[in-house]
Amino acid sequence: PKLYPMPMSAADEGWNSLSGIADGPRMNATFVTLARNSDIWEIARSIRQIEDRFNRRYNYDWVFLNDKPFDATFKKITSSLVSGKTHYGEIPKEHWSFPDFIDQEKAKKVREDMKQRKIIYGDSVSYRHMCRFESGFFFRQPLMMNYDYYWRVEPSVELFCDIHYDPFRFMKENGKKYSFVLSLYEYVETIPTLWDSVKKFMTNHPEHIVEDNSMGFLSDDGGETYNHCHFWSNFEVGDLNWLRSKAYTDFFESLDQDGGFFYERWGDAPVHSIAAGLLLKKEEVHFFNDIAYYHVPFTHCPTGEKLRTELRCHCNPKDNFDWKGYSCTSRYFDINGLSKPEGWENQSD
Ligand code: GDP
Ligand code: MN
Repeated sequence: PKLYPMPMSAADEGWNSLSGIADGPRMNATFVTLARNSDIWEIARSIRQIEDRFNRRYNYDWVFLNDKPFDATFKKITSSLVSGKTHYGEIPKEHWSFPDFIDQEKAKKVREDMKQRKIIYGDSVSYRHMCRFESGFFFRQPLMMNYDYYWRVEPSVELFCDIHYDPFRFMKENGKKYSFVLSLYEYVETIPTLWDSVKKFMTNHPEHIVEDNSMGFLSDDGGETYNHCHFWSNFEVGDLNWLRSKAYTDFFESLDQDGGFFYERWGDAPVHSIAAGLLLKKEEVHFFNDIAYYHVPFTHCPTGEKLRTELRCHCNPKDNFDWKGYSCTSRYFDINGLSKPEGWENQSD
């Protein structure tokens, strides 16, 4: 029989140079995913893409967290997909329940009211536990204590470009502590008193507010009011030791005491973002233009045609959210005095 011809492209230089295990050191870092057993096929899609575009060459570990025990299927599928080691943790009750200072009746009335007003996840108890957990507890789970950096991954996200270097190493070598790919305005209805709570914290803990911070990203009037800009936290690469620091834990505890995770519906995105904006120096917050990402309903497709070609991207540049009116990413560039990537004007309509 005739041999089936081998497509030459499979053996060309470009493919080979990216097909093996990457040289160089590894950071003390892990992927982290909070998920339910029922999320298995959605998280499998996310993992497959992270592996294909990056981790097959780096083999970083992956920590899975759940408020219930993971079942055998979840463990079997995820461990078969991840090229690094997988770890499975069950969240303790104290990190996934109402603190005793919360007035249950009041919280219930809020949920009923938000249901009437059709506020997204407004009537959900579990969503509130999730937001509070991601705000205050994921980074201090026993399994996470072994690591210095994390990359958060949610079910059903997409990566559209190759990642040609180690983002964890980039963070460490450049002193970055928090990073994002998408930013936008938060729904006001979910956080009406969050900024009051932040101002209280700033008054009580001036020692934690960093001089060269990103207040200009968060506020248009020097901190009087919040403009609702936040980094979208379903994607994050960050420094766990920063989240475990006194500054961040004081911040979380102060907000938590005010009850807004239950009396409103504070998200972990504005909480992390405000913390990054006030407790970190501007230059410690990084925007990854070259990590192409989708989480319903927004896309970050890198600006710059050359970059997209080199990274073998498959996103439509027209879908890029960065320079649209509802994105806060222009503001990030402005306050940091960064010039926007070439070609951004063509994507702003
Ligand atoms: P959205 O992105 O804000 O629409 O919220 P998601 O439904 O994606 O939830 C955010 C993250 O928390 C995802 O990683 C979910 O898998 C996870 N999650 C949400 N609710 C629960 C829950 O009740 N239990 C567990 N274990 N994970 C949850
Ligand atoms: Mn999600």
